[in-house]
Amino acid sequence: MRYIQQGLITALRKKGISSGSVLRAMAAVPRHLFVSEALRYHAYDDISLPIGHGQTISKPSVIAHMVQALELTGDEWVLEIGTGSGYQAAIIAELAGSLVTMERIEELLNRARSVLLRLGYGGIRFVHSDDFTHVKGSFDAVIVSAGADIMPVALFDKVAPGGRLIIPVGKQSSHRIKKFIKKQSGDIIEEDIGEATFVPYIIGETA
Ligand code: SAH
Repeated sequence: MRYIQQGLITALRKKGISSGSVLRAMAAVPRHLFVSEALRYHAYDDISLPIGHGQTISKPSVIAHMVQALELTGDEWVLEIGTGSGYQAAIIAELAGSLVTMERIEELLNRARSVLLRLGYGGIRFVHSDDFTHVKGSFDAVIVSAGADIMPVALFDKVAPGGRLIIPVGKQSSHRIKKFIKKQSGDIIEEDIGEATFVPYIIGETA
């Protein structure tokens, strides 16, 4: 597996992932353990894979690109919306101080929790909810891994001054990945950091 995983890291470098810490995190997390046995063979290809319940684990290059944009240095408080398989949570846990991850589908959350605990990621808080207002406090970095057709503006309240938010926004077939930076003054700066297709961000339908 190591050898194939190294191939993925080479592919990520070619696709513009330049952060050494992000590349190390991508090399450290065994993606094959976050997908079903039948799909393990493809775990280190740069493709999205089904994880059940109509959801997918994103392409490694998309995850690396989004996580790189969070600019984590090791001590940040991070909120992830859309735990899915838990793979991206593991990458973030490698790079941040603390992580709260939220998922609307309980079975996916439970499966992610058990894989992450087995791998030794002990400090993650798991929340079964589709409503980020249920999570108290604000975070240095917020990442949404489902595509929102309309930007949920209340999410800016979850971002601490000086923090950033990464969220895919747009129509179902293609989303723009947006990066919002909340300045100390509270002003918001918006950047467009790329395009990808995501499963939909859904509110009002927990399972
Ligand atoms: N980062 C994940 C990708 C998961 S796909 C991984 O590495 O596997 C996106 C996930 O977002 C899906 O599991 C979906 O159920 C979840 N989701 C969609 N809308 C949500 C919401 N409002 N709150 C929490 N989770 C949500």
